[in-house]
Amino acid sequence: MFCLWQNRNNGVIIISMIKMLKTADIVLLGLLLGLSLLPLLPWGAPPDACYAEIRLEGRVLDTVPLTGHQGAEERSLTFTQAGTAHHYLIRLEQDTIAISAADCPDKICVKTGSISQPGEIIACLPHKLIIEIKTARSMP
Ligand SMILES: [Zn+2]
Repeated sequence: MFCLWQNRNNGVIIISMIKMLKTADIVLLGLLLGLSLLPLLPWGAPPDACYAEIRLEGRVLDTVPLTGHQGAEERSLTFTQAGTAHHYLIRLEQDTIAISAADCPDKICVKTGSISQPGEIIACLPHKLIIEIKTARSMP
């Protein structure tokens, strides 16, 4: 008997809740639900491919494609500045790039770690070396 009474009582509560929701509310709810699912849809074109631009004193030394890069590798970068040779190790891991070793005095560029997002920069100010992530769209 108790169970029957409770079921009936729950049923009454549900019916009154549905009555409280007007048609407009249901439409609004549906809209909100739809909006919340929007980010899950595949939107337009895939994101632009990223590459790293390595610049020395504003001059582009090298461009390294990052999007789709697999595995890890280290590339040495050597240049001469004011008669002194400088050595760097550029580390590529998956789609990230980092300076893993440098002969600059402050090592800030090494401490910066790896970058992978467009606009991110690793700067080695003592030698005016800059690595910047760019997308194919912003390629000149
Ligand atoms: Zn440095």
